[in-house]
Amino acid sequence: MNLKYQTVILFLSITLFFSCSQEKKEVIFDTSFLGARLDSIKKIDNNTYQAYTFPAFEPVNKSPWFAFGVSSPKEQKITLHLKYGKYKHRYIPKVSTDKKNWHTISKNQIKVDTVSGVATLQIKVSPQKKYIAAQEVFSSKDTYSWLNTTIKKHPFLQKEIAGKTVLNKNNYVVVSESKTKKAIVLIARQHPPEVPGGTLSFTAFFEELIGETELAKQFRKAYTIYTFPLLNPDGADMGNWRHNANGKDLNRDWEDFTQPETQTVKNYITSKINEGKKVKFGIDFHTSYSGPYLLVLDSINEQKTKKIIPKWIQNIETNSDFKVEARRRSQKLPYCYNWFFNTLNSEAVTYEEGDEIDRKIINQRAKTYANQLMKTLLTNTTNNEK
Ligand SMILES: [Zn+2]
Repeated sequence: MNLKYQTVILFLSITLFFSCSQEKKEVIFDTSFLGARLDSIKKIDNNTYQAYTFPAFEPVNKSPWFAFGVSSPKEQKITLHLKYGKYKHRYIPKVSTDKKNWHTISKNQIKVDTVSGVATLQIKVSPQKKYIAAQEVFSSKDTYSWLNTTIKKHPFLQKEIAGKTVLNKNNYVVVSESKTKKAIVLIARQHPPEVPGGTLSFTAFFEELIGETELAKQFRKAYTIYTFPLLNPDGADMGNWRHNANGKDLNRDWEDFTQPETQTVKNYITSKINEGKKVKFGIDFHTSYSGPYLLVLDSINEQKTKKIIPKWIQNIETNSDFKVEARRRSQKLPYCYNWFFNTLNSEAVTYEEGDEIDRKIINQRAKTYANQLMKTLLTNTTNNEK
């Protein structure tokens, strides 16, 4: 895989270098980092380029992820057309010089042709490399670096290898162990581009659960927390639009369990249940163009539950300014949250953020939802077995 990406950057660099080295104005596009995606570049004239980005696997929904670096020995302005073949532009580009601090591109730097689906960017390039991406780039390396720092600060957390990915990388679970039988499960980032919910919401939510508030301490005494912080590290590192390294949509694999990533969760959680744990709640973190919302149980199945979800939503709306849009889906679909209900007999939701929601609001929402979930689960009178 690395070879492939190195070849792409070498090819792009060489092509562009020779095409304009006379003027010392060569523009260099970089795809040598984890999470990058840019399939080819075509130079149209001295200042205009077309960047082609295609999905690694099809069929795929409209999630045209792109991520690349761009620089030039001399400062210059370029026009860059982002093209996705038969797909249309979706994500407003995010810009960074260090892949840590990101800002959304200014409105006057982008024009989207809604008919052709092509986005045209006006960018100033210079020796200081700029990263341009569909969303903030969080590769497996970035997520595990955050995770290791977090674990160091909170020694009660245990990181375990829960299984392997298609590319034989470790797939981790983080455990906060309680002496009781009750447990909750968090799953993040089955879909690589879904950084707002899959990484930003998830980390803010998780950090509330492991925080030093009395509520969090009480919660951790009462519930074990099993967390899968990045279920699809291969897909995130490959810059995939949707899939794992086998070209499978993991969130359609929770009935057949054909993929190592979904099998990892199934085997791990089943082994904990066999040891006596009872899973009471599950959350699977995603992002949608029409978010934020929660996918909840359908009304027929809600009758059979302990009604954690309606109480949680009520608590969120009573104790904050957030209004929760709950969308019902059939419990027959092979989605992760349905596996919790259909097989583990526990309630669960899909937590969907929106593509372009203000990151501060994403953070506040996740913290509020986490605190209200802890309160709801601690005060659920039908749920008070040890
Ligand atoms: Zn998703």
